Amino acid sequence: MGGWAIAVHGGAGVDPNLPPQRQEEAKQLLTRCLNLGISALRSSLPAIDVVELVVRELESDPLFNSGRGSALTENGTVEMEASIMDGTKRRCGAVSGLTTVKNPISLARLVMDKSPHSYMAFAGAEEFARLQGVALVDNQYFITEENVGMLKLAKEANSILFDYRIPTVGLETCSAGAASVEAALQMNGLPISVYAPETVGCVVVDGEGRCAAGTSTGGLMNKMSGRIGDSPLIGAGTYAGELCGVSCTGEGEAIIRGTLARDVAAVMEYKGLGLQEAVDFVIKERLDEGMAGMIAVSRNGEVAYGFNTTGMFRGCATEDGFMEVGIWE
Ligand code: ASP
Repeated sequence: MGGWAIAVHGGAGVDPNLPPQRQEEAKQLLTRCLNLGISALRSSLPAIDVVELVVRELESDPLFNSGRGSALTENGTVEMEASIMDGTKRRCGAVSGLTTVKNPISLARLVMDKSPHSYMAFAGAEEFARLQGVALVDNQYFITEENVGMLKLAKEANSILFDYRIPTVGLETCSAGAASVEAALQMNGLPISVYAPETVGCVVVDGEGRCAAGTSTGGLMNKMSGRIGDSPLIGAGTYAGELCGVSCTGEGEAIIRGTLARDVAAVMEYKGLGLQEAVDFVIKERLDEGMAGMIAVSRNGEVAYGFNTTGMFRGCATEDGFMEVGIWE
């Protein structure tokens, strides 16, 4: 075994003109979350517990699109979703359509541990949350002023936003260049924007070689009420097996079509690819250009990531002392 490893993400599809202060805040949050995970791993917490712990921290901070700070539906409400998977026995739990659950990832964990099911949604999931005694808050808790402004812009543009920050410059001055802007402007034929951070995720392999993965999100800004993305779908946004753990981020519809997370595990299992090779292969073969990214760990203690968007907020650390936080290529 190669020791423990951890990776986190805060979404792909970053605004190339994201102000430096924002970039700094994002990096600080990712670093804080990595450090939290590292100390938990040093205290021998199992991978699945570390994933839950770190994703909760990301959900509680309004910076990224999960828990507090979630993207808003077309009705201005929040409908959150999350999933978690323990690779050792391929156990999993997922939730969608949450409106009052403070930490969706923990409810996903409870679905896995305390229900006979693997995926619960909307009213039934909320009722399950109440029965399990998890922290509930008013929907207003999740809504930030910034996201209300972004929803307004999205509605004005009649657009479903791939991410949720207010554009700082016009598209014509976007430094990513006209071609990538054009590519980013289409999502299922609908116009979308190219700006900033999104969904959060964490993948962990612990010192015993156990892999786990978790993903949590508010989905896409100005999404239709009832829309479910890739993040709660095991095999699409999240997957963990014996060999690896994977969490994806980006345009959910593209990730679902490509079954990205499971495919990484599948090419490792069936084609014998290494972790980074598997990530690169799946992004190249299964993902539409400019749409998404992913983080992954292997049971040998490796970390890998890849994306075909402008950037991806991410960080990783391994037991041998390596640590890195980045946004761009
Ligand atoms: N994949 C998420 C979704 O489509 C969005 C994201 O990753 O930011 O709901």
